[in-house]
Amino acid sequence: ERIIQADIIPEDDKIEQGLRPSHLSEYIGQEKAKKNLRVFIEAAKKRGEPLDHVLLYGPPGLGKTTLASIVATEMGVNLKITSGPAIDKPGDLAAILNNLSENDVLFIDEIHRLNKQVEEVLYPAMEDFAIDIVIGKGAGARSIRLDLPKFTLVGATTRAGMLTAPLRDRFGVVNRLEFYNVTELMQIILRSAAVLGVSIDDEGALEIAKRSRGTPRLANRLLKRVRDFAQVEGDGAIDYDVAKTALDRLEVDSMGLDNTDRNILETMIHKFGGGPVGLDTLAAAIGEDSGTLEEVYEPYLIKNGFINRTPRGRIVTEHCYRHFGLENLIE
Ligand code: ADP
Repeated sequence: ERIIQADIIPEDDKIEQGLRPSHLSEYIGQEKAKKNLRVFIEAAKKRGEPLDHVLLYGPPGLGKTTLASIVATEMGVNLKITSGPAIDKPGDLAAILNNLSENDVLFIDEIHRLNKQVEEVLYPAMEDFAIDIVIGKGAGARSIRLDLPKFTLVGATTRAGMLTAPLRDRFGVVNRLEFYNVTELMQIILRSAAVLGVSIDDEGALEIAKRSRGTPRLANRLLKRVRDFAQVEGDGAIDYDVAKTALDRLEVDSMGLDNTDRNILETMIHKFGGGPVGLDTLAAAIGEDSGTLEEVYEPYLIKNGFINRTPRGRIVTEHCYRHFGLENLIE
């Protein structure tokens, strides 16, 4: 597993619970989403109604689950967490919905992966707080409507484009989460360090922030790894030198690139003259499958201007040559 992968990895589980902010005021960044939610939460509370259904989308590790739990806390209701692939049958979803209390928040992660039959149960549930169940068989079969407690669905997805239109249309509040800037990540790191009881100065936090790929989950993970170095090889405190040494040893560079990223870029530069090179050819050259290359590795490299996509294939950018000190290869 890559230290910089943004998806959750087992070691995150233990710490993430403790590091999750529980109120909107502690949730750093995402100002637009926060501002919207603050208004809607207050209005819903005033009316004594559940909050409108909320769709959160954006890359992994940006705080979707955290925001769902904050919504529940701010509304003063329970949170039930599940995910698209975990709900097998319509009956499973019906049972979950039926067990909610009035105004509860149901969080469905990876909601784009719900199967069609399950998704169809969700439509009337979201719209009318009811589900239709068929009883009996053949000619005697009839459908009865079962009322559900009112609830708020918070759906999260990394691939908003994969949601069906009818599902998407049933969300009253849609928020895209953005990558965090370095200042915000620094605040998150300082906050997490305080929670963990780790001593860290601003320069140390800044160095970790710069290498965290705009992603709080990575910031927290790198903080933990740097803390290990600080405890074993230093006096436990994290400053610039400790952070830099630790991150260099973890081979996460000043732009948050790791060995795999560097291998991709250097292969493009040295084997393919900087491109254009087709996705499949590149994937074969680095020994990865092309889907993983495209969905896991490439987005960050494209977003940060290391790679461009062209109709003829991928090319590396001038910025990329500069990052590797290969200005001489720029045409
Ligand atoms: P997602 O559901 O989008 O994959 P999570 O909500 O699980 O992401 O967030 C990953 C971790 O990052 C959480 O444990 C939380 O501690 C931290 N985190 C995310 N967003 C924020 C934020 N805005 N402020 C502080 N910490 C955050």
